[in-house]
Amino acid sequence: MASAAGVGVFKLILVFFLVLILIGLGVLGLILRGLLSLLFGRRNETGDGQGTDGRFRFGRAPSPDKLPERMLACGLCGVHVPESEGVRTADGFFCCEEHRRAHDKNKAEAVGP
Ligand SMILES: [Zn+2]
Repeated sequence: MASAAGVGVFKLILVFFLVLILIGLGVLGLILRGLLSLLFGRRNETGDGQGTDGRFRFGRAPSPDKLPERMLACGLCGVHVPESEGVRTADGFFCCEEHRRAHDKNKAEAVGP
């Protein structure tokens, strides 16, 4: 009887270990998957949807239209104006056409005879 009981316990332990190993393998697989995704970046983890999402995000971030425009000082009054709103000439940059003309006039007067 004692040996039979021993075999029964042994069988129980065997089954217990088998279950443990199966659970362990499952956990190991999960850990390995996590490690692999960590090692090889999150690209493998991301599906097609997230890939396109990332592409969209990449396109959104450095939008040249929304970049702060370069501010330039007017050659006459010194006011800082966005480059596209001012007037650029060979003499320099001006906040408006009026100041460009005024600067030309001043220059003509200064250089004139
Ligand atoms: Zn000006």
